[in-house]
Amino acid sequence: MKKIGITTTVPVEVLIAAGYQPVDLNNILVSDPDPGRLITIAERAGFPLNCCSWIKGIYGVCMDSGITDVLCVTSGDCSNTIMLMETLKLKGLNAVPFAYPDHPDPHLMQQTLQTLAATLGTTLDAADKVRDELQPPRDLALKLDELTWKQNTVSGWENHLWLVSTSDFNGDFRNYRQELNNLVDACSQRQPYPGGELRLAYIGVPSVYAREMYPFIEKHGARVVFNETQRQFAMPEPGRSLAEQYSSYTYPYSINERLEDIKPELHKRRVDGVIHYVQAFCHRGIGDIIFRDAIDLPMLTLEGNDDFFLNSHVKTRIEAFLDMIQRSQRRPLKLKKGKLEGANAPSKNTPSSLRK
Ligand code: SF4
Repeated sequence: MKKIGITTTVPVEVLIAAGYQPVDLNNILVSDPDPGRLITIAERAGFPLNCCSWIKGIYGVCMDSGITDVLCVTSGDCSNTIMLMETLKLKGLNAVPFAYPDHPDPHLMQQTLQTLAATLGTTLDAADKVRDELQPPRDLALKLDELTWKQNTVSGWENHLWLVSTSDFNGDFRNYRQELNNLVDACSQRQPYPGGELRLAYIGVPSVYAREMYPFIEKHGARVVFNETQRQFAMPEPGRSLAEQYSSYTYPYSINERLEDIKPELHKRRVDGVIHYVQAFCHRGIGDIIFRDAIDLPMLTLEGNDDFFLNSHVKTRIEAFLDMIQRSQRRPLKLKKGKLEGANAPSKNTPSSLRK
C-alpha cells in the first residue's frame, strides 16, 4: 500500500478504502530518536521560530521520510496547516486539503466525505466496509480506556499511547489489534493501582513531552485516568454511519462540544484535578480561559514548545499542583465565623500561582 501522511486524525476509512496506508506524521515526529533535528529542518527552510513545533516537525518528517502524499487538515485542526500545505506543494509533494465542516452536522459531513472519496478515487460504500474492520481495534482501545479508570490497571502513558495511535493504528490496524489484545489481556490480570492515588484528567492536544510526563506524575502518587483528545481519536461515539461518527468526534469543533464530552467524563472517572496542555504559539491556548470558567476542579495549565523532555520548571509545577491537591484533600473541615472551611476539592479559590 502506498503511504499517505496525515496531519491529524482524519476519516482513515476513506484513505484505506482508496488503497493508502495512513501515517500520522505527528506520531512519526515524537517517535523519532531525535525529534529536534526534524524541527531544525523546518527552521532551516525558513519556518519562523515562533511557529508551533508540531507544524515544523510535520514539515521535517515530510522532508526526511520521502513521503509524497499528504492529507492536510485545513479546517477543524490548525490554520497553520494551510501554509504548511503550500510549502509542501512547493517542494513537489501531493498535498491534498481536507476540511471538517465548521459545526458537527452529519449532512455536511456526508458531503465532505463524498468529496474526499471522489478525490482519492474510492466510494463511501468501500469506506463503510473499512469502518466495520476498524471497529474491533477501536473497541479494544476503548476497553483499555475503561480498564484505566474503572479497574485501575492501566498506566496513564499506556492509555495515552494506545489511544493516540488510533489515528493511524501504527500503520497496520490488524497488527495493532493483535498487540493491543495481548496488552488488554495482561492488564486484566494486573493488580490495581493503590486506592489513595490522585486521579487526573489530561485535556488539550497531546503533549511533546508525554513520554516523560505520565511516569513523572505516577512517581508522585497520581495517575491520568482520562486523556481527552486521545480518547476522541478512538471514536467513542461511532453512531450509525461514517458521517455520524465524524460528527460526534469532538476535536475539530467548538470548545462547547468538547466540554459536553469532558465534563461527564470528569465526574464519571472521579477526577481530582485537570492538566490542560497547550502548545506554544497555538491558538488553542486561548481556550484555557473557557476551560477554567467551565470546569470546577483544580487546573494546571502546562505549555510545551520543542522540549521533548520534562524540564525542571515543568516538573516543579506538576509537583506543586499535586501537593496542593493532596494537602487540600487532607485538610480537616472546620467552622470559622459560621463558614465551612477546608472543603475537599479546591476549585476557583485555589491560589492563582498554583492554578496557572
Ligand atoms: S498544536 Fe496548535 S498550532 Fe500546533 S499544529 Fe496543533 S492546532 Fe496547530
